[in-house]
Amino acid sequence: MSLSSKKRAPRVLVIAPHPDDEALATGGVIQEHLRKGHVVKVLLVTCGDGQRRGLLLPPRHFLRLGERRYRESLDALRILGVHEKRVIALGYPDRGLAHLSASPYRSRYTKVCAVPYEWAYRPGAPYTREALLTDLAEIFTDERPQLIYLPHPRDRHGDHHAVYLFVHTVLRKLGLAPQLRHYLIHYGAWLLPLGRYFDKPLVPPRSLRDHTHWLVHELRPHQIERKYQAIRCYRTQTQYIEDHLLSYVRRNELFDLQPAIAEREAHPRGRLIALRRGQSSARFRA
Ligand SMILES: [Zn+2]
Repeated sequence: MSLSSKKRAPRVLVIAPHPDDEALATGGVIQEHLRKGHVVKVLLVTCGDGQRRGLLLPPRHFLRLGERRYRESLDALRILGVHEKRVIALGYPDRGLAHLSASPYRSRYTKVCAVPYEWAYRPGAPYTREALLTDLAEIFTDERPQLIYLPHPRDRHGDHHAVYLFVHTVLRKLGLAPQLRHYLIHYGAWLLPLGRYFDKPLVPPRSLRDHTHWLVHELRPHQIERKYQAIRCYRTQTQYIEDHLLSYVRRNELFDLQPAIAEREAHPRGRLIALRRGQSSARFRA
């Protein structure tokens, strides 16, 4: 068999709006993909450099927070088996993705209007909608993932919802149709009770059960343990909301294969972004 006829390992891309979403939503399934020899890359859209707590602190506090949170993701992903060279950090503004437009957005936290991190994918990229779409298009073209994990359209966090819209916009523009698995992080009281319930199943919110197609991914016991260890790396978050974060460690993870959404999805900040349903045609063996 010649080298060129050798089959390319399946490529998986996990897209996280903030450093920690990747482990909370996919900390188990990432391990399963790696076990099967798949190539897993993680794309952090923001570095989590915004926080309501301490809004009045100086910009340098939030820049340091972004740097710390990025490092926490690298540590957590190392535990899950993903090398840091497979982590791409874009550095767009935390709590600002839904505000991106044609003119550069200024972060309320870091007070910058462009990517301030030298280790980011494109340092100096302006905080505009166009710049983020360009980065995503370039990464999707380079990586050609067969499977993408991304936020659920009904996620109530503005950044999560915006990432969903941006990803769909770019895939449609490029004419790519990877399999999509949508994960939910923020959905009211859905996760209650909070805390360590590693034996409990994670079930979809009642209001999202009927019109959606949930894939249940069961974790092996050692994968649950490793996911737990990975989540403990996010110390900037666990110091305040450890119970909340550990609530995502359950015996399974959940992914919506085909979330029911409207043809035009309302933008969380009131604007409308045109959106057509991106159908997943390429099937993925996982
Ligand atoms: Zn998030």
